[in-house]
Order: sequence, then structure tokens, then C-alpha cells
Amino acid sequence: MRVLRRGDGGPAVAEIRSTLTALGLLPPVNGVVDEFDPAMEHAVRTFQQQRGLITDGLIGPATYRALRDATYQLGGRPLAYLVSAPITGDDVATLQERLLELGYDAGRPNGVFGAQTEAALRNFQRDYGLTVDGICGPETVRALRQLSPRARGGRPVLLREQERVRRSGPRLTGKRIVIDPGHGAQDTGVSVDGVNESELMWDLARRLEGRMVATGMEALLSRGPDQCPDEAARAQFANEAGADLVLSLHSDANSSPLAQGLACFHFGTGNGATSTLGEAMAGLIQRELTKRTGLRDCGTHPKTWELLRLTRCPAVRIEIGYLSNTEDRTRLSDPAFRDVVAEGIVVAVKRLYLLGENDQPTGSFTFADVLAHELAKAE
Ligand SMILES: [Zn+2]
Repeated sequence: MRVLRRGDGGPAVAEIRSTLTALGLLPPVNGVVDEFDPAMEHAVRTFQQQRGLITDGLIGPATYRALRDATYQLGGRPLAYLVSAPITGDDVATLQERLLELGYDAGRPNGVFGAQTEAALRNFQRDYGLTVDGICGPETVRALRQLSPRARGGRPVLLREQERVRRSGPRLTGKRIVIDPGHGAQDTGVSVDGVNESELMWDLARRLEGRMVATGMEALLSRGPDQCPDEAARAQFANEAGADLVLSLHSDANSSPLAQGLACFHFGTGNGATSTLGEAMAGLIQRELTKRTGLRDCGTHPKTWELLRLTRCPAVRIEIGYLSNTEDRTRLSDPAFRDVVAEGIVVAVKRLYLLGENDQPTGSFTFADVLAHELAKAE
């Protein structure tokens, strides 16, 4: 699709305006308005902010998809697991949240009807004496509406995620981590003065991989040095690998050369649904790396980006420095600095699995400590 922006017009604009009106973001009007005016741009920005999308006021593929998803309400259409083209929408997210509230593990409420949602739905249907067909039709919707939830807001899945980590124990051995170096091949990502994000992140990924393997983790790279799978393919790779954690490595850029620093992103919507472990992991990496590297702290943020949304395990996207900033770029160009970053990330991952046990002050846990800890556990 063509990206729509302020000043555009036509039937596609009229359609999006009516969606924004239905969502209460534009005032209702008589007749059809098909102009992308400043009021519409403001409404698009508000919508993007609510959904954790990039707030640019443009209608690109991600915003268009989110707008379409937002028009579906539970009961408006039958929902089922379509293997080749999974159904997505707010109605699916509502179904997942209701199932979770009732104690059925429908996975993270990401609005994608996948195999886990179907399995949870079938269990629910069996327990409540409904036709067990894995299809959310009128009968199932009625039953879901009648049952009062035990808890609100999809917390059980998040507790379950945490429980899984607790059960798997504080050791790193056997953990399967997917390292996702951003961009690749023709897509260099940010490129300033001959420094390419794709190459830097590939190098950092290899440094990280080496340390992870040394501590007994299984580290898989989501792409080769000359490949650039799209975000959905990277998520699928992690899901098929049965990853415990996905770490996506990027650097940022800004039109202002003064912008600099480090930020971490985890799955979460503006409506409060969030991946607890993703958020915890993002916080640990953010603290560990700002402490060790001195990069400016730009905080952790919930986002609904494809990779974060489609991975079944906790996923964190790390934006390490701004290549458009001379100071950050100089640091990142130094291999020794990338070693410090890799070490900080390994320690942060270890902290996640320690869950607060044997905590040492941020920045003081060394790679050697992590190794020693693993060896002691192995004896
Ligand atoms: Zn990037």
C-alpha cells in the first residue's frame, strides 16, 4: 500500500477517517470527508501513541494494520486458527484476555489467533460443555460473557511466564537465546561516515554469541552476515527454535546530532497489557549497560513492533547508541566497547534467571563471576 500523509485525499483516506471516528478519535460528521487534514493527523498520532506505534502521523503498513485490527470486536465474526493466514484483531486480543482471566493459557494477548489460542479455547470449550471445535462463534462468545473473570488484565499469563523461568532454575546452561542482529545485506540500517548499523550489530552479535556459548547457553543467530529476513520471519525463527529469550540488536539515529544514548523496548500496548519478563529483561539490560558504558539513559518502553509482538517468549530490542551522534559512533566503532556491551548483556540475562537471588550491585558482576557461578552449579 501507498503511505498516506497530511494533504492526501481519496477513498482510502475516507475509509481511515471513518475508522478513526468509530474509535472516538475524530468527531462524527455528516457525509463523507476524504481529506487528510491536520485534525486527522492529530487523531492518527493519538492512535499511534495509544498502540505503542511510532508516532509519525503517517498511515504506513503497521498503522494501517493496527487500525484494521481495532475495528474488530469480540462476537463480530467467527474466530478460528487459520494456519496459513492467522486472524488478527482486537477481538482476538479480547478472546485471549478472557481465556487468560479464566485460567486458560492462551499465550500472550497479542491479538494473533495462533495454535496456543486454539488449544486454550478448546480446553475452555471442553470444560464448559460447549462444542469442542476450536472456533469462537456465538455459543462460545455467550459463554465467555456469562462467566465472571477471576482476575482482570491478563495477569495469569505473565505469572505463568515468570513461573516457567523460576522452574527452569537460575542456571544459564540449556537456555536457548536467539540473538537478532538488526538489518543485514542491502539494508545497512543507519549508516554514517562509513559506519553501518548492520555490520556493527553483526559483530556485536558474534561477541555476545561467544560469551553465551561459553556460559553453557545455546545461542542462535536470527540471520546470516548477508541476509535480511523481515521482522515476522525473525519472530518465526525464534518461535520454531523454542527460544527462551530473544535479544534484538540495533543502533538509532536522529536528525539532531545531539541525540544520544541507550534505550530498551519490550512488548506492551498502551492499554496495560505487557510482557512482565520482557519488561524485567529490558530494565536489567538498561541498568547494566548504562552503568557499564556511560551511555545516556533513554529508558525502557513498551512497543507493539512486529518482532516483540510475534515472538512467544520474552523479547527485548536494544537500541545501542545513536550513530548520528559523534560520541556514540566513536564508542561503538571501538571493538573493546562492543566487548563491554556484550558482557553487560550476558550479566543482565544471568540476573533475569537469578530472579533477585545472589544479587550483586549493577555493573560489578563480571563475566568471570558468571562463569564461576555456572561451574559451581554444575558440580
Ligand atoms: Zn535498526
